[in-house]
Amino acid sequence: MSGWKGPLIWIATAAIFAGGAYLADKHIPGEHLPWKELDTSRPLGKATKSQILRMALSPPEVCMDLARDTAGFETIPSDPKEGPSTGDGKDVCGWEVARLVYGQDDIVLTPGEANMKCPLSVSTYLWTREIDRLAQERYGEGLAKMHHMGTYSCRRQNGNNSGRWSQHAYGNAWDVASFELTDGHLVSVRSDWTGEDGDAEFLRDIRNAACKVFNVTLSPDYNAAHYDHFHLDMGPSSACR
Ligand SMILES: [Zn+2]
Repeated sequence: MSGWKGPLIWIATAAIFAGGAYLADKHIPGEHLPWKELDTSRPLGKATKSQILRMALSPPEVCMDLARDTAGFETIPSDPKEGPSTGDGKDVCGWEVARLVYGQDDIVLTPGEANMKCPLSVSTYLWTREIDRLAQERYGEGLAKMHHMGTYSCRRQNGNNSGRWSQHAYGNAWDVASFELTDGHLVSVRSDWTGEDGDAEFLRDIRNAACKVFNVTLSPDYNAAHYDHFHLDMGPSSACR
């Protein structure tokens, strides 16, 4: 008697889901929909990070093509990097595929460009653009320079002699110290994090924006070793501190 009810319920359920997905696709911006491909022209949204993570799990050319085609992103493919030929980091450190990042539009990295694994470079692009937007909003000035402490360093976590390797060993982590605006105003993690003023708030906004695009974001809130920089990486851990 009720043999047809089961399939009917499944069909109805499937139709509701399909209809919901169709409506979401039509009316909700793509940055909030996890099943959409990452589009670097969109603002940051609720699904941006999951879109980045999915891209990072795809073959490397997916990210390399996206970075190349991102308007205003000043970057070229890096040469492969071999780790040391002897010692602890042999066959561990370095990378096959990565990008050399100079900056974007009118924003430059200083003291100079940085090698980054491709997904890290794309997250960096999105974060930098968001910092520029936050700076415009708060100061009426754009971001001009990102003062950084580099990416690649063949070492283990926390400088230990054993244990897990740092994401810096793969060019998959970046340390950033301060942010210089178009009028020369410098906001630095070292001197402005502990203040009560707008610069301290700006740094917290920047840290919170980083958490939307990087797997790991560590600020002075994490520990004393990070008193003067933000550590950002795209390794397998997850942290927003
Ligand atoms: Zn670091």
